[in-house]
Amino acid sequence: MDTTAVGRARHQGSHSVAKSTDMIEFAREFPRRVSRRLSRIVPFRPTRLRLDRPIVSFTFDDFPLSAAEAAAPALEDAGMRGTFYYAGGLAGRLENGQEIAGPDVAADLFSRGHEIGAHTHMHIDVHRTSNGVIRSDLALNKREIIQLTGGCAPTSFAYPFGRLDLRSKFLLRNEFSSLRGIKTGVNAGVADLAHLKAQELYDSSSTVDSMSKLLDRVERHPGWLIFYTHDVKLDPSDIGCSPAYFRKIVELVRRRGLTVETVRDAYARVTGQGADRQAGAGALEGS
Ligand SMILES: [Zn+2]
Repeated sequence: MDTTAVGRARHQGSHSVAKSTDMIEFAREFPRRVSRRLSRIVPFRPTRLRLDRPIVSFTFDDFPLSAAEAAAPALEDAGMRGTFYYAGGLAGRLENGQEIAGPDVAADLFSRGHEIGAHTHMHIDVHRTSNGVIRSDLALNKREIIQLTGGCAPTSFAYPFGRLDLRSKFLLRNEFSSLRGIKTGVNAGVADLAHLKAQELYDSSSTVDSMSKLLDRVERHPGWLIFYTHDVKLDPSDIGCSPAYFRKIVELVRRRGLTVETVRDAYARVTGQGADRQAGAGALEGS
């Protein structure tokens, strides 16, 4: 018996099984990939921004205690305020080695003039979550934010992981005055309020020099530049920055005399309408 031929046939058999499994996975994943890609390209709330000057917003996702302790004072020292996207389910917990700020810290930030925006409560990836679960998760997070701010409903949202698809974007598009992703860029001309562009502030990927050049461009061609980061501490994570780096960026912005506003206030400026008018225009249960 030719064992080599048998072995080859067996090998080819397992190979074709693996190949067909790959094909099934590809067929299942392909529409999702297209949906994700399209959601980042197709504007759901295209709006021409009123930009008589450049505007800068500083934002923080999740947000670690270090951002509240190091970044908020740096902004305040320069007369600025930031937007902190709150995920109630992470609050007060240790996540990926980061101590996440609790509701008392968020309440304190709010009392000092910062904005508490919304992430999802459990930091769920909305493009992999059913509409019903997204609805209840957002409603819970919203109630928590209203409670810690003494009645101020969140009007700004950031997609966890920066991920979205057509379905989730459609569901969320009118639930907040603005929804921010992580697609790199400056918002100018006609911007998509359901997926605002942003610029990461990470020690691992940006430098004072590169951010200085970006600010030069924003001064020449006015736009709404939204910075985002996570932890702000010595030896930061790959998605955070050091306090020294953060202060340098704040100083670059301050020296240029640029207008710095929370996302909520900047939204009101660039659209000419209050954030509250748009937020909640949708019909999420309990939100
Ligand atoms: Zn996040």
